[in-house]
Amino acid sequence: MAKLDTFNDPFDFRIRTLPEPNPDIQTLRVYSNEGVITKFNNLTHDTYEVVITCPEGSHVLSARAGQYGTIKVEGMQKPRSYSFARTPEMENPNEYSFFIRLVPGGEFSGWLAEKNREGEKVIISGPMGKFGLDETMKPIVGIAGGSGMSAINAIAEQVKVQDIPRDFYFFYGARTQKDLYLLDELKEFENSWPGGKSFKFIPVLSEEPEDSDWSGPRGFVTQHFQEEYLDKGIVNAENIKAFFCGPPPMIDHGVKVLEEAGLSSSDIYFDKFEDARSPAPVIDNEKCVLCDECLMAKPTKNCIVEATNFKVSNGEVTSFERVNPGHTSGLYYNSLFIDETECIRCYACIDACPHEAISPAYAQVPTMLRKL
Ligand SMILES: Cc1cc2nc3c(=O)[nH]c(=O)nc-3n(C[C@H](O)[C@H](O)[C@H](O)COP(=O)(O)OP(=O)(O)OC[C@H]3O[C@@H](n4cnc5c(N)ncnc54)[C@H](O)[C@@H]3O)c2cc1C
Ligand code: SF4
Ligand code: SF4
Repeated sequence: MAKLDTFNDPFDFRIRTLPEPNPDIQTLRVYSNEGVITKFNNLTHDTYEVVITCPEGSHVLSARAGQYGTIKVEGMQKPRSYSFARTPEMENPNEYSFFIRLVPGGEFSGWLAEKNREGEKVIISGPMGKFGLDETMKPIVGIAGGSGMSAINAIAEQVKVQDIPRDFYFFYGARTQKDLYLLDELKEFENSWPGGKSFKFIPVLSEEPEDSDWSGPRGFVTQHFQEEYLDKGIVNAENIKAFFCGPPPMIDHGVKVLEEAGLSSSDIYFDKFEDARSPAPVIDNEKCVLCDECLMAKPTKNCIVEATNFKVSNGEVTSFERVNPGHTSGLYYNSLFIDETECIRCYACIDACPHEAISPAYAQVPTMLRKL
């Protein structure tokens, strides 16, 4: 998509060629640090534990278990989102752990998987997202797939280190035995769970060879949860809090199963690992009240911009002009616009918007043209 980044009309005070906005002014709740990969460890054949260490005195980037940050390396155009894999209480100061899985064809995960990346410099930003432990004492059902292990593990660690007396069922979907990791740590939870409550880790394998020595459950993780725990009354859907993390199709199925079983959507929390294949969200400027919450949560400089003079062709925005907020009042800017070429699909803006004005389901053009 062509973009007009510089403005040529000398008589329009809004559109003189001006310096880029300072990203620090507009990302008030998201901090960035330089960091170094200080631990790089194979968890499985395609999943890596990555620990990033920032200099002493850097901004604190993770506020609580369940949140995520972004990581960017030199030469990469955009950062990528990754859930903090450990609760902040379990990390050394200025250290952040991630579990990152190789995505075939993926730029960042492909870079990571090429060789041991210890010593590489990165830019790390956070905290982002509202996913995290609720304050009730209801039993917890955590369901994760693949590297979605990260955020659910962090929440389990939080329950453990804070001695919160809650039962915890952790269902984990993987393909085969060689995709399982963290088994020893999770086993340890089973033996030392606080408050007289229990922690149960239930790995479910979908592609394990029939003739292998695996004696655990097989099939899809959400289906196993439904048939063996919900339908048999081991878990009472009306009295739990459910936390999902990982691939969107797994989460969509799990949410459907629980809602059909009677769990209210307000008792279900999820963190979908969207990526470049997912739709970019769109701002409905009919609903937007210009409160700037999304601008304060966004992880990258140019994903949400104040813009004007959109040109549209065949239902697509083909060009627009940036309004520079450093030089024009917010009162005068025209529309907030999500540039899908800059968006990293972190969905932080959707969480941040108090007016439900941002969604990946909105149509791009009709809703954004209010003020044209
Ligand atoms: C909130 C959140 C938390 C996350 N946490 C984790 C985590 O803890 N661990 C983890 O492993 N992952 C996590 N992810 C996913 C992660 O952010 C990345 O999306 C993932 O690692 C892939 O990044 P990549 O650079 O390797 O792939 P990308 O280069 O982004 O590509 C991803 C896929 O899209 C394809 N693709 C690229 N461009 C296009 C295009 N224009 N059109 C169509 N297809 C395209 C690629 O071929 C590839 O298959 C999280 C995502 C979110 C949103
Ligand atoms: S537009 Fe929204 S989803 Fe896209 S990168 Fe910015 S905050 Fe994240
Ligand atoms: S958070 Fe929502 S209402 Fe506020 S400026 Fe962004 S889109 Fe508009």
